[in-house]
Amino acid sequence: MYVAAENAHPHRLQLERDNAWLQNILRGIWNRYFNDSSLVNTIRVSFGPAWKARLGLITLSEDQKTTYIEINGLLRLPVVPEFVVNVTIAHELVHYIHGFGSPLPRRYKYPHRGGIVKHELLRRGMELEYRQYDAWVYNHWYEFYDSLVRTNQDVRPASAEASA
Ligand SMILES: [Zn+2]
Repeated sequence: MYVAAENAHPHRLQLERDNAWLQNILRGIWNRYFNDSSLVNTIRVSFGPAWKARLGLITLSEDQKTTYIEINGLLRLPVVPEFVVNVTIAHELVHYIHGFGSPLPRRYKYPHRGGIVKHELLRRGMELEYRQYDAWVYNHWYEFYDSLVRTNQDVRPASAEASA
């Protein structure tokens, strides 16, 4: 499993999850599961809002030079298993290679229809992590969310699935 960041400095030990940590996870997942695909621009990953019904989001800059992946800010907390972060990032990378949020040719009309994301993750060898992720999200996500986020306002409209 992933241990130290390649560019880690002794005085900057990995004590918490930050955007550099995410970027290293993304690099590791790309190298392990997606390196047969074309990386055609810069992908930046960062923690985003604490969405209720979305774990990640992928968008493309106007000039197509940068893809932005946002990961639900609650996944910063160490109580969330790393496989949840891993699969959330991998999910967004599937969108990337399918041409959503990336300059690559779009391979499908819709990003999720027909279970294409799950299928791609399993095909690429993430079966174990995917099943762990799926069980954790199903069993813990909403309870976890509610325990941390207390608001009378709806945070975001719920999307069709817990992970986008
Ligand atoms: Zn998605």
